[in-house]
Amino acid sequence: MRSQIIEKSPSDWPVEPNWWDSPAARAAFSWRTEAVGLSGLPEGGLNLAFEAVDRHALGAHRRHVALRILQRDGGRREIDYGQLSSLSNRFATVLKNLGVGPGTRVFLLCGRGLELYLGMLGSLKNGCVVSPLFSAFGPEPIETRLRLGEGAVLLTSESLYRRKVAALRERLPALQHVLLYDENGGPNTPVEGTHSLYQLLAEASETFAVAPTTPDSPALLHFTSGTTGAPKGALHVHGAALTHLVTGKYALDLHPDDIYWCSADPGWVTGTSYGIFAPLLLGVTSVVDCGEFDAERWYQILEQERVNVWYTAPTAIRLLIKAGAELARSHHFPQLRFIASVGEPLNPEAVWWGKEVLGKPIHDNWWQTETGGIMLANTAAMAIKPGSMGKPLPGVEAAIVERHADGSLSLLDDGQVGELALKQPWPSLFRAYLGQEERYRRCFVGAWYLSGDLARRDADGYYWFVGRSDDVIKSAGHLIGPFEVESALMEHPAVAEAAVIGIPDALLGEMVKAFVSLKSGVEPSPQLQAELLGHARKRLGAAVAPKELAFLPSLPRTRSGKLMRRLLKARELGLPEGDTSTLENPL
Ligand code: ATP
Ligand code: MG
Repeated sequence: MRSQIIEKSPSDWPVEPNWWDSPAARAAFSWRTEAVGLSGLPEGGLNLAFEAVDRHALGAHRRHVALRILQRDGGRREIDYGQLSSLSNRFATVLKNLGVGPGTRVFLLCGRGLELYLGMLGSLKNGCVVSPLFSAFGPEPIETRLRLGEGAVLLTSESLYRRKVAALRERLPALQHVLLYDENGGPNTPVEGTHSLYQLLAEASETFAVAPTTPDSPALLHFTSGTTGAPKGALHVHGAALTHLVTGKYALDLHPDDIYWCSADPGWVTGTSYGIFAPLLLGVTSVVDCGEFDAERWYQILEQERVNVWYTAPTAIRLLIKAGAELARSHHFPQLRFIASVGEPLNPEAVWWGKEVLGKPIHDNWWQTETGGIMLANTAAMAIKPGSMGKPLPGVEAAIVERHADGSLSLLDDGQVGELALKQPWPSLFRAYLGQEERYRRCFVGAWYLSGDLARRDADGYYWFVGRSDDVIKSAGHLIGPFEVESALMEHPAVAEAAVIGIPDALLGEMVKAFVSLKSGVEPSPQLQAELLGHARKRLGAAVAPKELAFLPSLPRTRSGKLMRRLLKARELGLPEGDTSTLENPL
């Protein structure tokens, strides 16, 4: 029987962790003090890209490797901070030469690769607002977001442009400039109505006077994952740099000589805050993998690149678990010091799998597009309670609250389920939902930002995810969080994935129904169905356990790997499916 807690010992800390939690350490923390880790622009103000690269390029870190790019064909290329600074200056110059001014929206439809970094950093230096998109998006979600975000510039590969954007051009009058490169990196063949990125870069100056942005200047437009409805555009500012810096240090435990790998897609906020900014702000070397997921190759990357800190997501961990422990054990990662995960609840099974198979437990953390950075985390020095999201980071004050009909709030006690709230402000708090002012206002009550997620806090101050408020099931007077039921089902050896929804029921209010996909080699059968229902009843009790269970070959997920329970529900009830633009493998 596994214990409820994973204690840490000195052997877990080959280097001294950056954060040791204690009331005194928390009291001593201040954002103002941490801000000495940023330099500010020489003339005053703050620019995210200047902080991320130029500051290092101007100092002793100039020749330190910023990016180690693993190309699809097996090649690798290293870019140091000095080169990244000059190249992003060239990109900024290209924009300026095209007449693109500060505040203009630049969209990046890029896979992982050098161009993503140049586009992001160069645009920010020119004072533009950047919106990254999933390169796997089809034409419709691309059009919707470009239109909503009034994108004036698009950076993408020639092949993505031809396949997904060219036919849309006439419907996007705001889109003035399209910059193209070859998908394998380097120059593309010319395409009518577009510019060739590398030709313009070659002609551009590599010195650039960074736009005089301030901590409050808009920098990023991130669309949410669309798990619970149509994606919302969340606007972030340059001042978010401080959250990226601080959370990279305390939540991910990044140290100056680390090799760091963030495997999130750049179209998702994690791919930006922690795929681009946090590691650069802290001056570490990032592995940038241009390929798609492949269990064998991922283990090779961890092993051969000698990754110290790895930030991933439950969906990737699930795929690795599926690929089997033997494959993992044929590789060795003595350098791997810290593994973290975000995006979805991390089942206790997955935390233990990390410890038992990879040799390190997986540290769950929680945040949202809206928060701009990690807010709750299991940190390096902390004991882990598998299934918990951890504790608020320094500088973050969290609470479990109940919102009343009259608009007031009450703070709930330990053990009670309520909405997870965070005391505002913090540097990376979003500043607007694009075009939805009222919705933005509704997120705040007095001093608190309300996340829309339900959770509880235990007596030791650990937070436990219960569910998104839209997904929580009310059955016979009980409030049931789908995560708890799904985790119990996933303990059964036949189950690969589980999703649980509530279905309207005259007697119960809502009835719990589970959808399960099975591990490869296991066949669905009425016996197995009964066995799984029995297993859940034994684990959870009859009031919480599912009453019905159906098998599916796979479960609907967003491109960032989140379960779309609303889609299962719509399909079950024969209702319209709503916005499916972020659905992975649309059927
Ligand atoms: P939308 O708001 O469009 O429905 P989304 O909320 O999935 O999409 P994101 O901002 O990418 O978009 O995801 C944040 C959400 O992901 C959180 O509000 C939470 O529900 C979930 N989440 C993130 N990390 C965790 C975690 N560690 N445990 C549980 N849930 C998590
Ligand atoms: Mg959300």
